[in-house]
Amino acid sequence: MQSYDFEIQTRKCDLNTEADALSRIEVDAIDVDEAKDPWYEDMFQKVLDEPGAHSRFKIADEKLFYFTGLVRGKPHYVPVIKYADRQKFMEDNHCPPTSGHFGIAKTFTKLKRLGYWPHQFSDVKKFVSKCTVCRAAKSSRQVPTGEMHSHQAVDVWQTFCCDLAGPYPRSSAGNRYVMVVTDLFSKYSFLIPVGKATAIQITKKFEK
Ligand SMILES: [Zn+2]
Repeated sequence: MQSYDFEIQTRKCDLNTEADALSRIEVDAIDVDEAKDPWYEDMFQKVLDEPGAHSRFKIADEKLFYFTGLVRGKPHYVPVIKYADRQKFMEDNHCPPTSGHFGIAKTFTKLKRLGYWPHQFSDVKKFVSKCTVCRAAKSSRQVPTGEMHSHQAVDVWQTFCCDLAGPYPRSSAGNRYVMVVTDLFSKYSFLIPVGKATAIQITKKFEK
């Protein structure tokens, strides 16, 4: 570099289209202030001051707990998870092979039995939908879309195409749809009245 004559200029991020790989890494950085979790501190203090006014919470061993309901007739509490610990808590209960990368609903059901924090469902939803393993598995499970082919009919009554028109006002015979069956070679069409637009009905009409 020293053999070149150059001048260092700063460019705004959005103008710098040749950004290097490092600057593209997405970092879910936790704000230092948020790591303190003001909500937790605030709730802790409120429960300490007025336990009766916050009956779903209790303090034990200097920690905040949340009431989830009765289990075998006894009140059941789970620990309140602080902001800074939520990401790891979700990872630990979603990502290990024994946890099986469950979907949003199952992951949430599992997590709320183990810990509580406000807006837990939306955080779990965000976490699961961002999970790279889940996303990769989902895309590989999708059947690749087939290619479109044009059908070449070389004789009459060889290939038909079928379309449904409707729903129309019900006829006296109880029909609401018109099934249009066209012979692809001659373009000769049949119009067949149909009561319901179901696969069974259509198949029955076709067989007739
Ligand atoms: Zn996952």
